[in-house]
Amino acid sequence: MFLRTLREDPADAEVPSHRLLVRAGYVRRAAPGGYSWLPLGLRVLRNIERVVREEMDAIGAQEIQFPALLPKEPYEATGRWSEYGDTLFRIKDRKGADYLLGPTHEELFTLTVKGEYSSYKDYPVMLYQVQTKYRDEARPRAGVLRGREFVMKDSYSFDLDDEGLEVSYQKHRAAYIKMFDRLGLDYVIVAATSGAMGGSASEEFLATAESGEDTYVRSTDSGYAANVEAVVTPAPPARSLEGLPEAQVHHTPDTPTIETLVDFLNGAGLGREFTAADTLKNVLVKTRIPGTKEWTLLGIGVPGDREVDMKRLEAALEPAEVALVEESDFTANPFLVKGYIGPGALQANGIRFLVDPRIVTGTAWVTGADKADHHVVDLVCGRDFTPDGTVEAADVREGDASPDGRGTLVAARGIEIGHIFQLGRKYADAFELDALGPDSKPVRITMGSYGIGVSRLVAAIAEQHHDELGMVWPRAVSPADVHLVVAGKDESVFEGGERIAAELSDRGVSVLFDDRTVSPGVKFADAELVGVPTIVVVGKGLAKGVVEVKDRATGERTEIDADAIVDHVAGLV
Ligand code: ATP
Ligand code: MG
Ligand code: MG
Ligand code: MG
Repeated sequence: MFLRTLREDPADAEVPSHRLLVRAGYVRRAAPGGYSWLPLGLRVLRNIERVVREEMDAIGAQEIQFPALLPKEPYEATGRWSEYGDTLFRIKDRKGADYLLGPTHEELFTLTVKGEYSSYKDYPVMLYQVQTKYRDEARPRAGVLRGREFVMKDSYSFDLDDEGLEVSYQKHRAAYIKMFDRLGLDYVIVAATSGAMGGSASEEFLATAESGEDTYVRSTDSGYAANVEAVVTPAPPARSLEGLPEAQVHHTPDTPTIETLVDFLNGAGLGREFTAADTLKNVLVKTRIPGTKEWTLLGIGVPGDREVDMKRLEAALEPAEVALVEESDFTANPFLVKGYIGPGALQANGIRFLVDPRIVTGTAWVTGADKADHHVVDLVCGRDFTPDGTVEAADVREGDASPDGRGTLVAARGIEIGHIFQLGRKYADAFELDALGPDSKPVRITMGSYGIGVSRLVAAIAEQHHDELGMVWPRAVSPADVHLVVAGKDESVFEGGERIAAELSDRGVSVLFDDRTVSPGVKFADAELVGVPTIVVVGKGLAKGVVEVKDRATGERTEIDADAIVDHVAGLV
């Protein structure tokens, strides 16, 4: 076994899964947001892939595979070549032609179905792939939880009508429930926004975890649950910019430079001096594109590790009016701020964060004299404005009445492990994907897209299945069925251990066999760290004809007859 465990936590690890997966020898960092899978990690990844494939096959989806290296043209046709912003890895080949590394594959699937199918009799069809995706994330984080290169299962459904799409969507939803149950996850299904994918109905599967980047609310008294991004509440009453006290809104006349920005911050009455070298914490800055009423958020700094570098801010400024808005303690209201949105991230998500100025002045940017009373608008992305300029703002707090009128809201955090979308005809329109109907008239196809973060799942499962000693894998994903430790110096003990390992393998039980010549203490600690559900210790007891079986999850130890151990263990797995 090619395995080295580490005594120390990696310096950059913020969350338990990252710490443990590195320490226990599952993954190693190879690049920012890029991880190598060592043997143990690869086994876990493959086990997850197997569960995912089985459930996809069970609903009749067929596996195909696209390249990750893709030509620009299809993504230009849908506008995503530019909409994706900085998140897209763009490259040129030797002839100067533009390529990208696929962040998601709607375009290719649509074109492929268009290439192969033409009649209504061909439909419906569901296709999927398990493939490496590339996104130049603004903040790769927590090991494989948010990589720039990661494994995704993405599937796509193609139907003749909306009813068909609903059926395909529900099939995926049911398959996801089966997968995540099999993987031993604790998760919630929440209403979501469709973001860069476009489309209407969409739900996310969030694995409950403190370390999650998503915040969701659910009702105490009903089944209502939604990502805070997707909570729809009535827009607050509009207030005009003019009505605000001078100190709270500042305008720069020209394209802001770092100097004007610094002046501007210093003039805002925030009670501290800024310099060009500063990073911004607790400061919101917005910019307005001239001649429009669209405001683009440039920076939210949340205390601690999330700060906006002034230089980056300058680089992101457009010829625009800039208004500094407020400084306040976002930690007091953490769930209202959806993570860090910096100038890079703005583009990176391929989403313009648009805020209607009326809403802006009415809520987000206004801080009352009483700081505790301030509001932070949770920015609405992807969503359309209504003609009268109102927007469904998700300014939601724990304790608010549930939007369905039943109960109050509680908030918690989660990791997005799956996301299902009813795309509708956005991509079919872009590529004119039609089927010839029974009356020989073309029927525009309607699509769904369904993602699962396969490599992220390794970390999400690890977040939920560990203790202070190490990993505690659910059987379905464990890198082995049994961790067999030989503890003792006698040749006979090693031989006994080898014999048991061989017999277990013959019975189809996968064994991680530790026959290293290191102290038993080191081996036990490693067994706990690695986290295989059953640990078998072959030691001194073997002379008396017994071996010890330890359940990693409960810590329970049992002595078992050496003769009966193979049957006993085979019965557990
Ligand atoms: P997030 O909100 O976490 O950035 P997303 O909404 O951008 O994710 P989707 O486009 O919905 O992601 O992609 C489908 C799935 O791929 C997600 O539900 C998530 O599980 C996974 N995923 C997305 N980005 C990453 C990443 N950078 N690293 C690992 N997994 C990811
Ligand atoms: Mg994303
Ligand atoms: Mg998301
Ligand atoms: Mg998503």
